[in-house]
Amino acid sequence: MHKIHELSNLLANQIAAGEVIERPASVVKELVENAIDAEATQIDIIVEDAGQSLIRVVDNGGGIEPEDVPLAFTRHATSKINSRHDLFNILSLGFRGEALPSIAAISDVTLNTTTQVASTGVMYHIKGGKQVSQTPANGRIGTVITVRDLFYNTPARLKYLKRPKTELAKIVDILNRLALSYTKIAFSLTSDGKSLLKTTGNGHLQQVIAAIYGRDVAQKMIDIQGENDDFNVSGYVSLPELTRGSREYLTVLVNHRFVKNFAVSNAIIKGYGSKLMIGRFPMGVINIDTDPLLIDVNVHPQKSEIRLTKEAELSELLITTIKQRLSQENLIPDAYDNL
Ligand code: ADP
Ligand code: MG
Repeated sequence: MHKIHELSNLLANQIAAGEVIERPASVVKELVENAIDAEATQIDIIVEDAGQSLIRVVDNGGGIEPEDVPLAFTRHATSKINSRHDLFNILSLGFRGEALPSIAAISDVTLNTTTQVASTGVMYHIKGGKQVSQTPANGRIGTVITVRDLFYNTPARLKYLKRPKTELAKIVDILNRLALSYTKIAFSLTSDGKSLLKTTGNGHLQQVIAAIYGRDVAQKMIDIQGENDDFNVSGYVSLPELTRGSREYLTVLVNHRFVKNFAVSNAIIKGYGSKLMIGRFPMGVINIDTDPLLIDVNVHPQKSEIRLTKEAELSELLITTIKQRLSQENLIPDAYDNL
């Protein structure tokens, strides 16, 4: 008998889930990113018990064709990339085709989805990686996905979760970032019946900043704008008087994707020169738009680290853009009084 054998699909998915789905917030991230990729303009997120007993994401995006639904829950099945070329030219948030099968392997999932072309929608139920049912269902165009009892069959992972308050804070963090990245999408987050975030989707970044950090903060932010041959940077940064004790309030988005990149946040800080006190960091939301070919998002399954081909040029642009903008600001102190 062979000692080496292929893992069953379910086992492979549970292992993949260990990488992709660390906690309830990872489920929220994956589901909301799918809704964004489906071009939803409104995304409502409902959680109970900090996502432990229920996570529901309702979107008005394109939906999934009935015959594609079981495929969506199959590993490495994606509608988003076809070829090696696409892998280096990624415009969508997802591309690995791992999220849905991973989530379904470790929870109880129902999906209700309807597309514009299909005459009727589908209700699909899958639990612990096994399909329970698939029935025709009526719904409006879009997708409602409900994840219950996350980690019910992986008790070791369940044990590693932090207190509900901490897990909920991580969910809020993820949604704040997504709301800041996608100002044209109306987001809402409801936790145990309480509204925690609501954005209008009207495209005004400063208003989203106000919804998340409060009006006082938003009023102390100034807009920035700059470009060179390869990059376009825009967004808001705080006046030097508004600082925080960590870099966490600097949200950097490359082609709408939240990223962690030390060189980039350093450049933003450098733009302030000596205006910041030691150990203090600015707040800000900075959009960096560039050719997808200049970035590699395929570094990490959770995809928050990226590699940039022209990091030095980008850093230079950020430093000068922020420096110049801050020097103007001294001349027009009341510009944002009527926000
Ligand atoms: P990926 O996002 O990497 O493609 P997922 O496992 O997250 O992989 O999703 C698999 C596929 O299911 C997607 O490629 C997409 O075609 C479809 N899908 C998932 N969620 C939605 C949604 N909310 N609306 C429309 N299609 C969806
Ligand atoms: Mg996805």
